[in-house]
Amino acid sequence: MNKRVPIVIANWKLNGGIDLLCTSVAAFIGKHFSAKIAICPPYLYLRDMLNFLQHSEIMIGTQNVSKYESGAYTGETSAQMIKEAGGSLCLIGHSERRQMFHENDPSCKIKVTRVLNSGLMPVLCVGENLQQREAGITNDVLFRQLHDALDGLDLGDKRIAVAYEPVWAIGTGKAATPEEAQLVHEYIRSELTVLFGKERAESIHILYGGSVNKNNAYELLSQTDIDGLLVGGASLDPEHFMQICLHA
Ligand code: PGA
Repeated sequence: MNKRVPIVIANWKLNGGIDLLCTSVAAFIGKHFSAKIAICPPYLYLRDMLNFLQHSEIMIGTQNVSKYESGAYTGETSAQMIKEAGGSLCLIGHSERRQMFHENDPSCKIKVTRVLNSGLMPVLCVGENLQQREAGITNDVLFRQLHDALDGLDLGDKRIAVAYEPVWAIGTGKAATPEEAQLVHEYIRSELTVLFGKERAESIHILYGGSVNKNNAYELLSQTDIDGLLVGGASLDPEHFMQICLHA
């Protein structure tokens, strides 16, 4: 089986500003990568990044998206607006949004649908927390997150990706080992097979996120079912992130 071309996504979270934007643009412009690279800055920087990077290979995405299309929803940004601005993808259901902003599986499903309908790629984030892992219910948690958000979706020829981000690995410096992550990715692919059929499931990128850095990136990516990386902290240092991208 051909390995899927890796996708490496930077998730800046609520970090960075004009300085990080400028140093990232300077580092990435004119560079060629074998992997597909995307940066998800805060919404406010979407247009500037797109303008600066329009002739580069870098895609721009967002860290969230509204479940609403339009109307009286103060503070929201719709999938269509992100599409019109030139974005390529949206992260959906990141664990920080689930924990701190009441994101849940039904809202993820609405968002996935909106993003797909706008012609953008949803990146559905899933993952268990430490208690769930220790209780041995990782697969049960993932089953619910995947099925509640994706059941009944007609993908057609639209693209979707899943990011496995164990909560205990995010921002802790304790990444899952490549073997641990591979086992979970294999399970996720088996559920994607149930949802979308074997051929389609084989084409879906499953990214790993959680304390990825330039020292562990390559070994993680060498696993059969790890098709990309979602990078938080290490993406805030453009040179460090570049090392990850160059080796992907
Ligand atoms: P981290 O974050 O790389 O800092 O662990 C990853 C993420 O939350 O997407």
